[in-house]
Amino acid sequence: MLEDDEQHEDADEGCLGPMDLAERALRERFPNWLTRGSIFVVPDGWALIVLDLFDAIAAKVGKDADIWVGAIKTQFAGLGVAYHAQDALRDRIQPLVAQADEAARRTCEICAAPGRYSVDGRGSYATMCAVHCEEHGFGVAALSRH
Ligand SMILES: [Zn+2]
Repeated sequence: MLEDDEQHEDADEGCLGPMDLAERALRERFPNWLTRGSIFVVPDGWALIVLDLFDAIAAKVGKDADIWVGAIKTQFAGLGVAYHAQDALRDRIQPLVAQADEAARRTCEICAAPGRYSVDGRGSYATMCAVHCEEHGFGVAALSRH
């Protein structure tokens, strides 16, 4: 059984998960891309994917590029990134965002093990490994996209 009480009692460093730490690091490193208004809701299993994505974008266009990320979150069991950038910049960034989405769709959103597109009895979709599918009552979903 999970002991939820312990986890939520105080918000000190010890309670931060991989994604909290990744978000904090990214907000410090890219204060213009991620502002107070940026929504950042990504499951722990995808922390490395998101860190890699920002690294890849910075390597390609420079960290001073004029980009604003409005939201980065789970979307259709993949990684959705809504951002503003001029068209020329967007053309260079978009392939990296698509790659990160593809990577997320193969990665368990809870533990980062190889995952697959899964659905539960209520029609919720997620990308999870076999262990977490079992634990959360998900089964393999038919891929209707692609
Ligand atoms: Zn897992």
